[in-house]
Amino acid sequence: MSDCLFCRIVAREIPSTKVFEDERIYAFEDILPQAPTHVLVVPKKHYVNVHDASEDAGLLGELVTRSAAIAREKGAPDFRLVTNSGVLGGQAVFHLHFHVLGGRQMRWPPG
Ligand code: AMP
Ligand code: ZN
Repeated sequence: MSDCLFCRIVAREIPSTKVFEDERIYAFEDILPQAPTHVLVVPKKHYVNVHDASEDAGLLGELVTRSAAIAREKGAPDFRLVTNSGVLGGQAVFHLHFHVLGGRQMRWPPG
C-alpha cells in the first residue's frame, strides 16, 4: 500500500468525489475548497511535482488541457490553474496535482 495520499485516492483506498477519469488522469473535488469550483487534477502515475514530470511533456499537456475542459464543464470558463512545487511553493501533498479554481473573482497576488 502506498503512503502517498493521492496514489491512495487514485487506487480508491481513500474516498473522493470523482470529477473525471481516463487511463492517465484522475480528477476529484478538493476536500477544503478555496472557491466554488476547486478540482484537483492528478496523473495516475506518481510524480512528485512538475520538476519530476518534466520528461513527460505529453502528460503535462494532457493535465493542462483536461483542467481547462473541467473548468468549462463546471461552468467556470474563467478560472485559475495552479500547481505548487516544493515547500516554499506551498506544496503540501507531494504527488503532482493541478488546482482548478473558479466561480469567483480571483485576485493577484494570492498571498
Ligand atoms: P497543495 O498544497 O498544492 O499540495 O494542495 C493539496 C490540496 O489537497 C489542498 O488543497 C487540500 O485541501 C487537498 N486535500 C488534502 N487531502 C485531501 C483529500 N483527502 N481529498 C481531497 N483533497 C484533499
Ligand atoms: Zn502518489
